[in-house]
Amino acid sequence: MIQPMPNDALRLKKKAQCGLLIENARGEVLLQLRDNKSEIPYPNCWGTFGGQIEEGEEPEEAIIREIQEELDYRPLTVEHYGIFPCDGYEIYMFRCLDPDLNIKTLQVHEGQGAKFFSCTDLDAAAFAFNCREIVRDYFARFHAEKTVFIGLGSNMGDREALLKAACTMLAGVITIETESSVYETEPVEYEDQGWFLNMAVQGRTRLFPEVLLEKLQHIEASMGRQRAVPKGPRTIDLDMLFYGDTVISSGRLAVPHPRLHERAFVLEPLAEIAAGFAHPVLHKTIAVLLAQAGNEKQVIKKQ
Ligand code: ADP
Ligand code: MG
Repeated sequence: MIQPMPNDALRLKKKAQCGLLIENARGEVLLQLRDNKSEIPYPNCWGTFGGQIEEGEEPEEAIIREIQEELDYRPLTVEHYGIFPCDGYEIYMFRCLDPDLNIKTLQVHEGQGAKFFSCTDLDAAAFAFNCREIVRDYFARFHAEKTVFIGLGSNMGDREALLKAACTMLAGVITIETESSVYETEPVEYEDQGWFLNMAVQGRTRLFPEVLLEKLQHIEASMGRQRAVPKGPRTIDLDMLFYGDTVISSGRLAVPHPRLHERAFVLEPLAEIAAGFAHPVLHKTIAVLLAQAGNEKQVIKKQ
C-alpha cells in the first residue's frame, strides 16, 4: 500500500518514484490529489500516484500494480513514455491507453480527502504536484503549440484527389500553415509498384504526438488505406516527419521520422517549405540533408 508522501518526504525516498501523471488515450491528464484536510485544493495539496518500483519490476508493471492497489482499476495498457528527473528522483510518466479510462472509472478508496482531477491547465497541475519544474517541462514539451511537418504520399487511385482530400481532413486536425507543391516520385525499397505523388505540409498543433499519430492513422483508414504489403501501394500515407524539435522513440512512434533524411521524396517537398529547419537529431538543415541524400531515384515537381 502506498503511503501519502508530502514533498519533503519525497526527498527521503531512496527508490525511483513512479507514475506521477497518468493520461488517457485522449491526452487528458488524470491527476490524483490528496491532502490531510477535507477539502481540495489546499496549499499543501500534493498529487501522487507515488510508489516504488520493486526489484526486478519494469516501470509498466509497477504502475499497473500501484493503480490496481490504490484505485481498484486494472489498466489494460500502460505505455511508459518519459522519465523526468526531480530532486534526484526519477518521475515516470505513463499513458493509459484504455479508451474508457476517465475520472469516474477511478475510485479512490484510500484515505479521506483524496480526489481525482482532470487537469489540462499548467498552474493547477503545478500547484497540485508541488513539482513545478516537472510539470512545466511536461507542458512545455507536450501541451505547448508545436510546429509539425507531415509527409503525404499516394500511389493508388486518383492520387491528386486523394492528396487534396487528405489535406482537407488534416486541416481539421492541425492548423495548416504551408503546403508544398506535389511531386511525382519513383518508388523506393519496394519497387514493383506505381509512382507516388508526395507532398509535405507544415502546421501547428497542441495535440500530443501519440494523439496526432492516431488522428493521422484515422485519416488513412477513412481514406481506404490498407496495410497489405509493407512499403507497398497505398491510397494515402501520412507520416509525422517532425514534432517540433521533440525526439520520440517508442514502440509506436518514432519522431523525427527515422528514414526521412535518406528519402529525396520526403526531403524535396520539405525543402520547398522549410529548407532552414534543423533536424533535431542530425543537427543539419533540410537543405543540407537534401544535398547529401542519394539522387538515384527520380523526384519530379509537378506544375
Ligand atoms: P511507412 O510509412 O513506413 O511505409 P506505415 O505507414 O505502414 O509505414 O506505418 C507503419 C507504422 O509506423 C505505423 O503503424 C506507425 O505506428 C508507425 N510510425 C512510427 N513512427 C511514425 C511516424 N513518425 N509517422 C507515422 N507513422 C509512424
Ligand atoms: Mg506511414
